Amino acid sequence: MIVVLVEHSQGVFKKKSLEAVLYAAHIAKEMGTDITAVAMGNVPDSEMQTLGAYGAQKVLHTTDARLDNFNSKAYAKVVVAAAQKENAKVIIGLHDTTGKAVMPRVAARLQAGLVAGAVGYPDLSKGFTVKKNVFSGKAFAFVNVTSDTKVISLMPNTFPVVKGEGSATVEQMEAGLSDADFSVKVLEVSKASGSVPLSEAELVVSGGRGLKGPENWYVLEALAQELGAATACSRPVADAHWRPHGEHVGQTGGTIRPNLYIAVGISGAIQHLAGVNGSKTIVVINKDPEAPFFKAADYGVLGDAMEIVPKLTEAVKKF
Ligand code: FAD
Repeated sequence: MIVVLVEHSQGVFKKKSLEAVLYAAHIAKEMGTDITAVAMGNVPDSEMQTLGAYGAQKVLHTTDARLDNFNSKAYAKVVVAAAQKENAKVIIGLHDTTGKAVMPRVAARLQAGLVAGAVGYPDLSKGFTVKKNVFSGKAFAFVNVTSDTKVISLMPNTFPVVKGEGSATVEQMEAGLSDADFSVKVLEVSKASGSVPLSEAELVVSGGRGLKGPENWYVLEALAQELGAATACSRPVADAHWRPHGEHVGQTGGTIRPNLYIAVGISGAIQHLAGVNGSKTIVVINKDPEAPFFKAADYGVLGDAMEIVPKLTEAVKKF
């Protein structure tokens, strides 16, 4: 059996979680086994049943009001309870903010080998060998997991999401949570302000310190609005509170793989590239011809952001 942790936003599963279920379905087919998804919090049954169209046979649902706010310790306990109930040999989550905190805990509790940031399916002809990112996405490693139980966190936006047919059964699960599991509490969640969710956006307009200050962000927002894109930023920008932390991408922020990533006034440090170098097309706008980002760019524009971005926005308007 394979157990997969699925995440939702206000009762609707995130696209990246559907990707995780499809990923699990591919492995389950090769292993000749089934998939059980684990959902927490307030999700309607009708939404959980849709996971059948992505390959899950069953959804275990834990509805404890305390789970409405993310808590890595409690989430891990629920996933472990599901894995034990299902006698799962493979447990899958995402290599995102939630998964980075939850999946290592799950692996530790189950004494399982962990592949963090997988970008390939396990090669069963070579034991259980999984391709993963290393050195902030600069190289790949092939990791052979030899433990009986295996835990994988999948790099989001690695595989396409294609809906099939089918409906999953839903079963309530009591995970034995106690107050001690909620000893760390989330007091505030600040969301990225853009209308398009960053993690699922096909187009992203991103800004760095080269924008000089939050008062200049209107040029990026205008372009993003014309394109129907999400906005993102480099870490120093979020650290300086020019933009919310939900928009920060990179090694210590979100990992995105949009079709188009437009980087404006961002130098292209390796820690930034780690979160965006899976983008299909990268456009870099920078006034320094030596900016390292140009080496990773498909298209580069040399010049001042405050001149070039408004011109780009005007050009997009004409389409
Ligand atoms: P800068 O490096 O200051 O670059 C600004 C760029 O703007 C320059 O290239 C400049 O030429 C250009 N510019 C200036 N004026 C203009 C103009 N008018 N028009 C056009 N271009 C202009 N960073 C991240 O982004 N994400 C992370 O997750 C992350 N994690 C980190 C983790 C660790 C452990 C460490 C040590 C660092 C991390 N960093 C991360 C920081 C990273 O190393 C860089 O410092 C950061 O990415 C630089 O941000 P920046 O490109 O916005 O700023």
